Amino acid sequence: MAYFCNKCNSLMPPGTDRCKICGALLDGTVSKQRSLTELGSFVKQPKVISKDEMKAPYLPYEPRPLQLQIISEIRDTLDSGKHIVMESGTGTGKTIISLAAALEHAVPLGKKVIYLTRTISQSNQVMRELKAISSLKEIYGIAVTGRGKSCPLYRGLPNGETLPPNVLSSMCEEKKSKRQCPYFNTLKDRLPEVSNYCKTAYPKSDELDAYCEKIHTCPYEMKKLLMKEMNVVAVPYIQILSEDIRNNLLNNMDVEDDQVLIIIDEAHNIIDAAREQDSFSISIRMIESAIDECSTMKGGDVPLNEKLSLKPFLEELRRIVRGLANQKLDLKVKEALLKEDDVEQRIFDKFLITRAQLSLALDQMTEIGEIRTELLMEKGETKISPIYDLSLLLKKWIMTDDEMFIKSVRTDLDGEYLRAACINPKDVTFFLRKQKGMIHMSGTLQPLEQYVKTMNLPQDTVMKIYPSPFPKENRKVVYMDNVTTKYEDRQKDPSIFSRMERNLAKMCNAVDKNTLVFFTSYSMMREMRPFLERDIRKELYWEESGRPRNTMIALDKFRSGRNGVFFSVMGGSIAEGIDFPGEELSFAIIVGIPYPPPSLELKAMSDLYDKKFGPWKGMEYTSVVPAIRKMKQAIGRLIRTETDRGMAVIMDYRASKYKKILEADLTTDPVGDVARFFEHR
Ligand code: SF4
Repeated sequence: MAYFCNKCNSLMPPGTDRCKICGALLDGTVSKQRSLTELGSFVKQPKVISKDEMKAPYLPYEPRPLQLQIISEIRDTLDSGKHIVMESGTGTGKTIISLAAALEHAVPLGKKVIYLTRTISQSNQVMRELKAISSLKEIYGIAVTGRGKSCPLYRGLPNGETLPPNVLSSMCEEKKSKRQCPYFNTLKDRLPEVSNYCKTAYPKSDELDAYCEKIHTCPYEMKKLLMKEMNVVAVPYIQILSEDIRNNLLNNMDVEDDQVLIIIDEAHNIIDAAREQDSFSISIRMIESAIDECSTMKGGDVPLNEKLSLKPFLEELRRIVRGLANQKLDLKVKEALLKEDDVEQRIFDKFLITRAQLSLALDQMTEIGEIRTELLMEKGETKISPIYDLSLLLKKWIMTDDEMFIKSVRTDLDGEYLRAACINPKDVTFFLRKQKGMIHMSGTLQPLEQYVKTMNLPQDTVMKIYPSPFPKENRKVVYMDNVTTKYEDRQKDPSIFSRMERNLAKMCNAVDKNTLVFFTSYSMMREMRPFLERDIRKELYWEESGRPRNTMIALDKFRSGRNGVFFSVMGGSIAEGIDFPGEELSFAIIVGIPYPPPSLELKAMSDLYDKKFGPWKGMEYTSVVPAIRKMKQAIGRLIRTETDRGMAVIMDYRASKYKKILEADLTTDPVGDVARFFEHR
């Protein structure tokens, strides 16, 4: 008998306990005996498997350059219980390498993998890779989306997909508790069939939804039941950001929080997503809806305690918000800071109550709201009680901690409102920090130190940059130094606007390629639109603010053509979430530097970072770094495969400050440079 390593099939000399080639231990799982007669057939199959290749047992493809090294570095980091923060350039295959490394670490320890995604296309990619991995190993996974996308009962309603999650959740609970949902009642019977489907087909989330709907069972509840059978669960960020939802997720997966390994994809978005998740507003409209609801109740009012009844309380609240807005805002000032107790103190003074009494009154308001919601559900309405909604927000308002939030009064086209903006999402960063081993990755995460600091990750976090393996000469980035979107410069020199418009139109006309133009704001795009429609002789398409459906229709037409121009806004779903392989996109023009617009929130965060990380760090971390990442994301749309070729022009002299990180050169003849680049194909 001869011994062969079951991992790399190398011959193992007698008396050895470890494979000399791949390092695997000679034990029941990784070694086997073969008779010498089998040796012949083995030798006839000379698949040479290198030592490195065998270090990635969950990689189902021929490794691309660097992939084995990256996988082994990630796995080693996880094995040592550390976080890895990595920028992984286009073409490194970050989904498959992170999964391959994560599974290699997690499976032997009985851990499950939570893969956090920002977009559906990312979760589809996870499912594709898991299916490929399943050709090597018995690994299962599931992609989960929100109830709004999956629920077959309410999705068909005219407003089904836009119902707020809390409304949908209440409606669902009502149906389930009364056993009135036909899709819920079939879950138990259909579970084995759907489980088998998932474990053989590795469906994308919408494919699983369609399958469940076809056999008349609830996809959303089914996914919750199936999670515990899966090694990998791909979920949107929200599942980790909110403590309640996170606890439910772990519960459904049947694991404790130290039995999961988390991968955050597009990690540069996570901190803003966490802040957005915790931030909230209380508008005059909401207060008025609650007052209107009072009027529909018997007697038009109900007591909250011996000193306070609901309707006068709400009317006083409306008066307070309007009073603060009148006092602090004007035509130019649209937002003003409030002191932590500005609103509450006015309520205490008016009704002569204490904080504890106000808190009890709000509990009473919630109870009234719950009863009202039940009544609405019984009548088949697709909304929950405004009193209920408002009571929860008011409770959050009085509980907010001024280390984490800033409070302000603001006004916009819909009227005045109070805003509690989270500047320091401590809960989620605390949860992530205490994980033993985790993968944070993105195509645009530099400077990594900024990410590590703002996420408050452990000091021993490993930081890595893995560049794109695609040929550098396939991509050219230039910037112009005689134009800008900077407000002060445009005020001083109005000719900048027409110079920008003329250059933009000429560049679009100079190439017969699909071109994407990114503006820094919708208002800038609107301002330039009539001139561009006059001067560009091509099919033009436009992103429409607040109308995603129209935008997607226009985008599909643009992608199916080869010589159109699509106008869009930086930082949105088009600049970050969509791939344009091959000829779908060749040329990108970035009009201005996408610094975030100034706001009280940004200022408060900047001050916080100055205090924590040193002078000027606030400005760098809240303004410069996000702008660079947005530009890199936009430029990254150009090259998605090894053979893609593309050029980007940044129309703003301020890009010179970031030319190194953007790998951009100055151009004095942008139209000529563009024409030459595409001629030299
Ligand atoms: Fe919708 Fe499923 Fe809830 Fe029924 S159980 S209401 S199908 S989410």
